[in-house]
Amino acid sequence: MKAVVYNGPRDVAVQNVPDAVIEKPSDVLVRITSTNICGSDLHMYEGRTDFQPGGVFGHENLGQVIEVGGAVDRVKVGDWVAVPFNIGCGFCRNCERGLSAFCLTTADRSVFPNMAGAAYGFAGMGPYRGGQAELLRVPYGDYNCLKLPPDAQERQDDYVMLADIFPTGWHCTELAGLRPGETIVIYGAGPVGLMAAHSAMIRGAAKVMVVDRHPDRLRLAESIGAIAIDDSKGSPVDQVLQLTNGEGADRGCECVGYQAHDPQGQEHPNMTMNDLVNSVKFTGGIGVVGVFVPQDPAPQDPLYAQGEIVFDYGLCWFKGQTIGTGQCNVKAYNRQLRDLIFAGRAKPSFIVSHALALDEAPAAYKHFDARDDGWTKVVLKNAA
Ligand code: NAD
Ligand code: ZN
Repeated sequence: MKAVVYNGPRDVAVQNVPDAVIEKPSDVLVRITSTNICGSDLHMYEGRTDFQPGGVFGHENLGQVIEVGGAVDRVKVGDWVAVPFNIGCGFCRNCERGLSAFCLTTADRSVFPNMAGAAYGFAGMGPYRGGQAELLRVPYGDYNCLKLPPDAQERQDDYVMLADIFPTGWHCTELAGLRPGETIVIYGAGPVGLMAAHSAMIRGAAKVMVVDRHPDRLRLAESIGAIAIDDSKGSPVDQVLQLTNGEGADRGCECVGYQAHDPQGQEHPNMTMNDLVNSVKFTGGIGVVGVFVPQDPAPQDPLYAQGEIVFDYGLCWFKGQTIGTGQCNVKAYNRQLRDLIFAGRAKPSFIVSHALALDEAPAAYKHFDARDDGWTKVVLKNAA
């Protein structure tokens, strides 16, 4: 099968690799028709993780089931499914509690002896190949495949967002503790930040503020009713305080991660975290879904080589703020969010800028990585 293979920093190619196949009776085999490039892929693409050359990217996957193992009951050949980027088992202590991003069965213990969590085509998240390919093997298929409604094939650009970024954006507002009528500031207007803004609007936030410096991304935030804050034009903290009677927002979301940088491009891995502490009010909540890794092989800030940042912990503590972090437990939300899409109450495809053939992946990576104007979200397609 064809697949997007990582050959080293900023070098991906569409190559032939051995077909994905059913390996265990609980597996499902999916013919991928839509698979997104994610901001998480870019950390790996840039060589800023321990992702190994030869690996296949792709954790935001949608397609049609073409084969099921003998132990699969619920999922049938022909079903259209969205596949959560997390690989859970459904029966371990964490999966049973709804923490499918921290599965104990599928985790790769060579990373950490007490490791929890696995994902497709992801640094440190196990040996599972990604879905930027023609076929994907889905372990524990009954648990991990979300069946899609009859309009799945026509509305793939909406439903494919269920694999990761729509639940992740929602999760960020949940970690922040958002309640109706509250104000919220979101750092990052990439796909994840825009999904957090979309989620906050649906959840009844009174005021949604989104910080970034890319005009095309800020325009998308405005298109769904959020207030755009351009941090190249002045301190984002001051702008948030001005919009919240000097108090700060009730809630804050980190949707950037450890490669946060200033508008001139210099990285400061602590920048968004400290801006959040300063722009969220006393007793407010902060959700952090932007990725932070325990080791950075090419850090711009030497301290971050071991994942450390200089954090305003004293002020955070003094303000009585709470912080929630980590990968999104997609299974905790994807069914409900699917039904919001089906009912026409959510339309996450508003961020899609490019639908391209899988063969065009190398150029797509280049443009999305450069945050070129107009490249907000790429969906790679295989003919149905
Ligand atoms: P992206 O890189 O396309 O978007 C990030 C945006 O942040 C860019 O538009 C950039 O201009 C902006 N930015 C950079 N520095 C900033 C700063 N100091 N202040 C404000 N904005 C700043 O990526 P994305 O796809 O939107 O993903 C965002 C993050 O979420 C990544 O770290 C990704 O790995 C992570 N992620 C996490 C999960 C999870 O489960 N926790 C899931 C998906 C993605
Ligand atoms: Zn992703």
